[in-house]
This record gives sequence, structure tokens and C-alpha cells, in this order.
Amino acid sequence: MLQQVPTSERRMSTLITVKEKLWSDLDVEATLDAPIGPLTWYETGGRAEALISPKSVKALQLLCQRCDESGIPVRVLGSGANLLVADDGVDGVVVRCNQPAFQETLWNDLQNDTPTRIGAGVDLMGLIQETARRGLSGLSQLAGIPATIGGAIRMNAGGSYGDTAQSVHSIELMTMSGKICTLTAADLDFGYRHCALPAGIVIAAHLNLCASDPIALRAHVKEVFEYKKRTQPMGDRSAGCMFKNPVDPSTGKRESAGKLIDLAGMKGKSCGGAFVSEKHGNFIGLRDGGSANDVLALAFDVQQQVFDHSGIQLEREVVIWSQRGAFQ
Ligand SMILES: Cc1cc2nc3c(=O)[nH]c(=O)nc-3n(C[C@H](O)[C@H](O)[C@H](O)COP(=O)(O)OP(=O)(O)OC[C@H]3O[C@@H](n4cnc5c(N)ncnc54)[C@H](O)[C@@H]3O)c2cc1C
Repeated sequence: MLQQVPTSERRMSTLITVKEKLWSDLDVEATLDAPIGPLTWYETGGRAEALISPKSVKALQLLCQRCDESGIPVRVLGSGANLLVADDGVDGVVVRCNQPAFQETLWNDLQNDTPTRIGAGVDLMGLIQETARRGLSGLSQLAGIPATIGGAIRMNAGGSYGDTAQSVHSIELMTMSGKICTLTAADLDFGYRHCALPAGIVIAAHLNLCASDPIALRAHVKEVFEYKKRTQPMGDRSAGCMFKNPVDPSTGKRESAGKLIDLAGMKGKSCGGAFVSEKHGNFIGLRDGGSANDVLALAFDVQQQVFDHSGIQLEREVVIWSQRGAFQ
């Protein structure tokens, strides 16, 4: 009697048979059936059919072209600080810009108005320290936010002190068909936690960093970081704020999603290993042994309770990756 092969195994063998064509001749590091959930700040969730770290822009370009031609979805993973990977993982290829070719910063030592080119895989927190050391302002408002530059641009990361958009001059984007184009800040139409990024991979950003007093700059970085530590549960496994702050139609201003969650009585509530933070209601943390499903179920419950209590439908900020497609 013929044995039924599980769908996941069939998918895997299909990918394995085409993989030679996809990247065997490319300068990449590749892992098949890669556990990507543990690479996120939630440290939970499933696997990707393939995790690929290209070692050059050319390798990334060819990979994108070939995946596009073969109909294989491509996702890009930054530092995983705004991401939840579903327990059953994702199909297709996950790309990481974590090789030196994507982690270079071309410092503009002439101190003129030319923007500084920063690779998409550069770690934001390290970059902020380095800019403060060099006396370059433009990023101190983001102190304490875990991100790669690519992820910070995609999410327009920010907070009470400002956002990423305010220092972006332009970006270099690799489209899913492997074309490289430059988009200006105006093209990206930045807004609150919003960036109109076309489908593709940010490979570098050109940021406006200006000469500034290093002592004042370091003091500002410290102030922003201290504020963040005081108000947010930075030590919990989370993906930052689960929901965007909604606009209050009566004032046109954004109101705190955390406060709405608090008013709906959800602070401290839990589901399996997931819990609503006591420190900040918009953070859903995860204990050891908890799953992505626990987080999703609790997020859904929070959304429902806030709606029942205030009539406001919260919009998710955290990106969820599941089997349903790329670039959700
Ligand atoms: C403790 C904690 C505190 C946080 N505080 C804040 C805060 O104060 N303010 C705030 O805004 N956010 C905050 N966040 C969320 C997170 O830090 C930001 O959203 C950050 O920008 C995510 O960047 P990343 O590199 O980790 O992206 P990931 O989480 O890896 O990815 C997020 C999205 O960006 C896409 N992406 C990543 N890299 C690229 C690229 N090169 N090209 C195209 N798309 C890309 C991914 O495909 C995904 O859709 C916090 C998170 C944590 C865990």
C-alpha cells in the first residue's frame, strides 16, 4: 500500500529538487528547514523551508530573480524584533542581510551634507552608539529600539522622541524581480509606523546625519533610553507594541492602545505562556514553553475586549509570518 507523504515533507522535497538551480552556484550561506522562530525576539515559532544569507548584492539579486521566476515566496528577516513566526513556520525562502556586504557604513568624514550610506543589516543600537561617539545627530531619538536599519525603515520605528523617517534621505531597494532602485523619503510616504515600501528588500539607507555636540548627543541618547526602560518591559520576550495607537475620531489625535487595553481590563491577562505586560498593556510577553499560537490567541482576545469595551478596532503593528504568503 502507498504511504501518504505529509504535505510539509512534499513541500520540502519539491524545494530541495529545485534548490540546485536557485542558489547552489551563488555566494550564499543556506540552511534548509531552518528554525527561524528562535531568531526572533519572541524566540518561538516554526521553521522556514530555506534561510539564506547572501554574501553579495549580486547573489541576492540572482536569488530574487530565480525565486520570482519559480514562484517561490521570499521574505526578509531583520533582527526579528517586530515579528511573530507562526508555529507551523513559513514556506519559501527567508533572506537575512547579515553578511558584511550588507553591514557596511560609509562614514562621511568630510562632514558635508552628503548622506551617510548604511547597509540594511547594520544593527540600529550599535549604530546609535557609534554616531553619538562621532558626534553625528539624526538617530538618538531611536535609542533602545532593537532593529536592523532595514527593519527600522520598513516599520518606520520610533516613539515619543521621533521616528526613523526624520533622518532618511533615500534607500536602495532590491525589487522581488532583482532590480535595484533608489527611492527618496518622499516616495516612501512615511507616517506613524508606516512606510509605503514596495515589495522588495531594502539593501541600504542613505541617512542625513549632521555634526553635533557629542556630549549633548550622548546625554540625549541616555535620556531616550532611560525613558524607554522606565516605561516598557524591555527584558520580556516580545515584539514591542502589539497594536498601533488608534486615531481618536473626535480629536484626530492618536490615543494610547496600551491605555485602551488597560481600560478593557486586559492588563496581566494570559493565555498559555503569553501574557499582557503589567508594565505596558500594549506589550504581549511570552514565558518559557509558550507558543506563537498563545501570543496570537491572546492578541485576538485583547482586540476583542477592547472593541467590546470602547468600540475601537485595534490594528496590529507586529508582523505575523504564516504559511499564507510573503510580505504580510
Ligand atoms: C523590547 C522591544 C522594544 C521595542 N520598542 C519599539 C519602539 O519603541 N518603537 C518601535 O517603533 N518599535 C519598537 N519595537 C519593534 C521593533 O524594534 C521595530 O519594529 C524594528 O523596526 C524591527 O526591526 P527588525 O530589523 O527587527 O525587523 P523584523 O522584526 O525582522 O521585521 C519586521 C518587518 O520588516 C521587514 N524587514 C526587515 N528587514 C527588511 C529589509 N532589509 N527590507 C525590507 N523589509 C525588511 C520584515 O520582512 C518584516 O515585515 C520594539 C521591539 C522590542 C522587542
